[in-house]
Amino acid sequence: MRSLSDRELVVASHNPGKVREIEALLAPHGVRVSSAAKFNLSEPDETGTSFAANAKIKATAACDTTGLAAIADDSGLVVPALNGAPGVYSARWAGPRKDFSIAITRLERELGTRDRAAHFVCVLAIAWPGGPCQIFQGKAFGTLVFPPRGGNGFGYDPIFQPRETNQTYGEMQPKAKHLISHRGSAFAKLSRKYFNSGSEDADDLISR
Ligand code: IMP
Repeated sequence: MRSLSDRELVVASHNPGKVREIEALLAPHGVRVSSAAKFNLSEPDETGTSFAANAKIKATAACDTTGLAAIADDSGLVVPALNGAPGVYSARWAGPRKDFSIAITRLERELGTRDRAAHFVCVLAIAWPGGPCQIFQGKAFGTLVFPPRGGNGFGYDPIFQPRETNQTYGEMQPKAKHLISHRGSAFAKLSRKYFNSGSEDADDLISR
């Protein structure tokens, strides 16, 4: 089995919020983490129509460029009443300046009086040099709240209230968010495969 401990792992993301969370999740496991910035990695076009496809594009590009194992996250907010939007376009709804007040205002307007149920999806992909790309998916279910609450986290955190609590992600401390979040859940699967018993519970193995 491939092991991540004592290896250098590239975090293939330019999103500071995601990088912070992935680094915090990896921190207890003795992995040497390098950022995309260290290698001057460009952001590949996310041409996929699924979270898994985009996560694979990002992990594979970083792995091919650096020759190191690379981890990528593709994630987003899914609102069933909006036919799944913003979904894989969650980042794009914030516009070129990544201004999430724009995305949040648009969500509130398009939702109107419709059902506010929503969930986050996170797909983590690990690409190995010369090897497969493996993906792990996590979800977190909850409700959208307006106006936004809390200044922690990033992106849509201040409008997402997970069903386990009456706080929004934006009001939660990072450790509390990790325990119930879509990213924490995907990471728990990855962790079971690479750090603990080595049980095979990846969602998928994509050959390259
Ligand atoms: P992408 O995976 O780079 O396409 O971007 C995903 C987008 O989904 C991010 O820019 C955020 O807007 C949103 N997103 C993903 N995970 C979270 C989260 O944990 N909190 C808040 N927003 C998130």
